Amino acid sequence: MTQESTAREQHATEPVNAVNAPGRNEMPVDNRAGSDTQTGSTERLSWGARSDVGLVRGHNEDSFLIEAPLFVVCDGMGGHAAGEVASGIAVRTIAQQAPKHADDILLGVAVEAANAAVLEGSLNGAGKPGMGCTATCVLIEDNRMSVAHVGDSRVYLLHGGTLVRITHDHSYVEELVDAGEITADEARVHPSRSIITRALGSDPDMYADHFTLDVSSGDRIIICSDGLSSMVPDKDIEELAVSSVTPQAAADTLVSAALTSGGHDNVTVVVVDVTDDGLASLHRAQRLKRLRTWVIIAAAVLLMVGVVLVGLLRGSWYVGINQDDQTVAVYHGVRDEFFGVPLHIIASKSAVEVSDLSEALQHQLEEGIIVASEEEGRDIIENYRDQIDAEKTKAAQTAEATKSAADSSQQNTNNKSAEAAANETGDAIPDAAKETGRLAAERAEREAAAQATAGVYSEAGE
Ligand code: CA
Repeated sequence: MTQESTAREQHATEPVNAVNAPGRNEMPVDNRAGSDTQTGSTERLSWGARSDVGLVRGHNEDSFLIEAPLFVVCDGMGGHAAGEVASGIAVRTIAQQAPKHADDILLGVAVEAANAAVLEGSLNGAGKPGMGCTATCVLIEDNRMSVAHVGDSRVYLLHGGTLVRITHDHSYVEELVDAGEITADEARVHPSRSIITRALGSDPDMYADHFTLDVSSGDRIIICSDGLSSMVPDKDIEELAVSSVTPQAAADTLVSAALTSGGHDNVTVVVVDVTDDGLASLHRAQRLKRLRTWVIIAAAVLLMVGVVLVGLLRGSWYVGINQDDQTVAVYHGVRDEFFGVPLHIIASKSAVEVSDLSEALQHQLEEGIIVASEEEGRDIIENYRDQIDAEKTKAAQTAEATKSAADSSQQNTNNKSAEAAANETGDAIPDAAKETGRLAAERAEREAAAQATAGVYSEAGE
């Protein structure tokens, strides 16, 4: 126990087992005077709350506040109605000062501001000196829950059917439990169980416990004053919380259990169900983001490939075979295909037929002969045409020459036959000619001699 400890009014009787007491009758809570409820929901949270004066006290000093996603329970103390002033000041101040997001440090600051406000209230006459209260608040944002806490009100988390208390009581008996001197069940019925060691309204330097933890869809959170936890064991709270369908039903059932157990204290229970922890939509958003990233990457890659291909197409030329008519053509681009799309177009066609070219050249053309420009490609094809023409001419000349040679050979053969025939008669002809000549010469000599004689005679006769 410390100097800041605050002693509550002691209960007249000890609490009894709420749930497991044989033959107990549950006390109805509907339409009870001094009972306050609040039900509501948001997209992701659903809640129900009930605060009841109990069966012993004359007034309810507990206050609760729900401004989703903020949920606050404050248990006032001080007697003579001052406790409810303190708890009222505290919940209002926390609501004003609480952060908008699940930031437990700022939530703790809000509780500390509430402490200052309660102290101020004590001084300025809004309440009574010595009034105080506990403050336990949670702020749930998506799958995170921030908690700030002072005193012996509690936060339980029901996860997967198991109830876990996530706050530490600032009480004398809790210190005894921590020291191993008593058990939790013994603490619940200990004579000094109402002595709390930290509360709002007594110490200006009071600080709040604060932390943040993960919650998930399906979790149920219970915030309560000690009017529940001192009357109903945790295992019964668990059982009742698990078996209640709605948060409001859970709050009602738990308050009913506290009343059934004696209702010695004011009892306040706020139950919040996490219906959507935001993880599903977060995962959807993440998947969408990943998809978007991949689309951007794919688009960038395609763009780069496109730029490269355009560069290749623009700067590349080759001479190849036009498969449509097996002629030689100049192509713009490269011979390859990209996912079935040819990366070339015909730039210049020609009438040069592939079959007129040598086999070696045909093979080269099948592979594509890379050239620097369309002009160079055309020149090469022109060169082929010239070669083909030259070869055709040469072939024609050769054919002509062969024909001439053949004719000439025939003529020679004919000539030789004629010559041979001539040679056969040629031997006789000269001899005959010689004879003929000799006879002619002899006749001429005789005629000349006869004329000379006649002349003489003629000249002589004159
Ligand atoms: Ca109380």
